[in-house]
Amino acid sequence: MPKYVYDFTEGNKDLKDLLGGKGANLAEMTNLGLPVPPGFIITTDACRRFLEDGALPEGLEEEVSRHLAALEGQMGRRLGQADDPLLVSVRSGAKFSMPGMMETVLNIGLNDESVHGLAKQAGGNERFAWDSYRRLIQMFGKTVQNIDAELFDHALEELKDGRGDLDLEAADFRQLVETYKDIVRAQTGQDFPADPHQQMRMAVKAVFESWNAPRAILYRRQERIPADLGTAVNICSMVFGNCGMDSGTGVAFTRDPGSGHQGVYGDYLQNAQGEDVVAGIRNTMPLQELERIDKTVYDELMQIMEKLENHYRDLCDIEFTVERGKLWMLQTRVGKRTAGAAFRIAVQLVDQGLIDLDEAVTRVTGAQLAQLMFPRFAKDAETTKITTGMNASPGAAVGKAVFSSERAVELAGQGEAVILVRNETNPDDLSGMIAAQGVLTSRGGKTSHAAVVARGMGKTCVCGAEELEVSTKERRFTAPGGVVVSEGDVISIDGSSGAVYLGEVPVVASPVVEYFEGEGDTGDELVQAVHRIMSHADASRRLDVRANADNAEDAARARRFGAQGIGLCRTEHMFLGDRRQLVEDLVLAASPQEREAALAALEPLQKADFTEIFQAMEGLPVTIRLIDPPLHEFLPDYTELSVKVALAGEQADDKDRRLLAAVKRLHEQNPMLGLRGVRLGLVIPGLFAMQVRAIAEAAGAVPGARAEIMIPLVAAVQELESVRDEARAILAEAGVEALVGTMIEVPRAALTAGQIAEAAEFFSFGTNDLTQMTWGFSRDDVEAAFFSKYLELGVFGVSPFESLDRDGVGRLVRIAAEEGRKTRPDLKLGICGEHGGDPDSVHFCHQVGLDYVSCSPFRIPVARLEAGRAALAAPTDSGTR
Ligand code: PEP
Ligand code: MG
Repeated sequence: MPKYVYDFTEGNKDLKDLLGGKGANLAEMTNLGLPVPPGFIITTDACRRFLEDGALPEGLEEEVSRHLAALEGQMGRRLGQADDPLLVSVRSGAKFSMPGMMETVLNIGLNDESVHGLAKQAGGNERFAWDSYRRLIQMFGKTVQNIDAELFDHALEELKDGRGDLDLEAADFRQLVETYKDIVRAQTGQDFPADPHQQMRMAVKAVFESWNAPRAILYRRQERIPADLGTAVNICSMVFGNCGMDSGTGVAFTRDPGSGHQGVYGDYLQNAQGEDVVAGIRNTMPLQELERIDKTVYDELMQIMEKLENHYRDLCDIEFTVERGKLWMLQTRVGKRTAGAAFRIAVQLVDQGLIDLDEAVTRVTGAQLAQLMFPRFAKDAETTKITTGMNASPGAAVGKAVFSSERAVELAGQGEAVILVRNETNPDDLSGMIAAQGVLTSRGGKTSHAAVVARGMGKTCVCGAEELEVSTKERRFTAPGGVVVSEGDVISIDGSSGAVYLGEVPVVASPVVEYFEGEGDTGDELVQAVHRIMSHADASRRLDVRANADNAEDAARARRFGAQGIGLCRTEHMFLGDRRQLVEDLVLAASPQEREAALAALEPLQKADFTEIFQAMEGLPVTIRLIDPPLHEFLPDYTELSVKVALAGEQADDKDRRLLAAVKRLHEQNPMLGLRGVRLGLVIPGLFAMQVRAIAEAAGAVPGARAEIMIPLVAAVQELESVRDEARAILAEAGVEALVGTMIEVPRAALTAGQIAEAAEFFSFGTNDLTQMTWGFSRDDVEAAFFSKYLELGVFGVSPFESLDRDGVGRLVRIAAEEGRKTRPDLKLGICGEHGGDPDSVHFCHQVGLDYVSCSPFRIPVARLEAGRAALAAPTDSGTR
């Protein structure tokens, strides 16, 4: 039988898969000799079994009983013992942190008898005992029995009647316990369970079940955490931060998670339990105040934090409780941080000698780098600042103020940018936070739910803007000076400074983008950190990074961003604009002479385009793809033209009539699967030849130019052979050398890659089409039509158009790479579909042995970094796939 339960002394930090992050780190701290309240962990394995079978796995209850008995022995009191109770917390803890997403129940073991025992333990502190008891019923009711939390909240508000929570007395809480019990009875038809073991059993099941709560599912999808990991359950003897002013609870970071600057940072709340801090219920005090309140505890905490940072060799965040002057560590983990802090901290740790540069590269992600490339507010913009809150998660966000998650989702669905404004957020606000450009709250510190979740998502957040009076009911807030912002009014929030502005503030490029552009202030600390990490990633990576670019301007930008060539120049983009007329002429050509004239008119324009690109790339390879999409894409809309011709009647222009006939003739039910790519080149004589001539002449005119000619949508080697032969002849005549290769974007091409490689000098995987054709998903329609349902159903965790589907499309890529190289060992392999700039897909390309990835210019830095991380074998963003 598998071992389902581990004592804290049995685990360690590397057992996160089995013990979850929280449990593994509690075990690690226990073994480091830090003051952790004793406890044990039920494994994720047990959770998975439970979720599969709908029942606790066999043997689990006996194992839990054994560990509980050992814990009782160690603590010298039994769970819920009437005169001297052991109380425990039951907390979730998955491999990847999912803040606030799953359930926690504290104070398990209390009932009408043991509450007196607890008061006795606490030196006769009745207030504390009854407060703890009412908290148990409240948390248990909400999380285990699914009772609407508002019922408890309202009862508490009514009882408070305007008093603060510190003004409540023992009798108040005692009365509240009775009210809460009534609520439980009314809602469930049963009494609140008094049996401590039953409480514990029910709480464990509830934690397991919370893995599949809608908000947890949504969070996992957002963070790309696999759905099948399950959560562990931590059962830990209770320590209390709410037994007087010599007690308290806090959260802290070993350095500032916002800026990365060294120095302990945190919040402390006297006479409170942990949940109160994270929920932002009372405003916390800065951690430094604890030094004044209890220097011994403060000094011990500082020492522990230093020890943890040196041990984990990274920024750690912690939760702790002080129980009547005694410090207890309740949690630690490698802490979330902003993107900027991630880069700063990584190089600081290198400078401190704690990690080397290889590891520093693995400590940052492409997603974080992309965040740093977001725009910020213009410094010299005219602004109307209405207040300043805490700078919880950086970035600049502009949008219409909305006051509920539902409204945020609704407006965002209509394409509106919105800012979610709340007093404080809770896990139910997740969908609104995802939909919004940014989040603004009036309460709570940098460790509040809003701040932690927004940082995790890379979403701009200003929290604790206390001067704002937010009325979610009236859908408006009031700022100092009587400024009223109602739903729909535009505001701008600066997550780096905490400023909140009325109206739209213009945004400008980030310093990191300016650095890549070569115009940045290289003295900037963040820019320096990015520079060091990028240089090392570049030195470490095996993959080249090229750009998808079709004009000289994009090509030049791509080079500044570090592109080592162009992997995809889509020539059809050069047929648009004022050249449309020439394409129309080509399509309408009634004789070979007319067609040749139309092609002859296009040729010099094409040559000029290629010349500029070759010049911009100065000898780096440029892969030019011959025209790909169906020709009707360049013609007027069928319906519009029909109406025009019909309205003109007899007077209709002859050209319009011919055009209409051509549009009709070329119309396809399935243009994506129709006359496009190589098929077009084989059907319209002279089209590809004209393009190849233009390439050859341009390459001949620019010294050092390195052209690679790429044929799109090939499915059979025969298609490629005839185009290749014609291209070779033209190149030879011009005395220009160029590789001739193909895209692999039709499944048949991947499956017959061994044959195709006979005729191709390189392959470039067109994974947009390859995904479309492998899944049978129209790239133009399905994302809007039903992908949200597919994501909800878990058919996939992320759109296969965004991140390469390793099992299906990836398998085809692997087959084609292997078989192609079998035929032609020096076959050059690249990718130019959108996946070329997606972090996880870049890792896949590295693993499968491609030579380069090609992506849009703006994503090049991300691809460079991820290629470096892949070479240094770092996991991707979520570290999960
Ligand atoms: C592709 O299909 O992946 C590709 C790069 O070509 P396009 O997107 O132009 O069809
Ligand atoms: Mg394609």
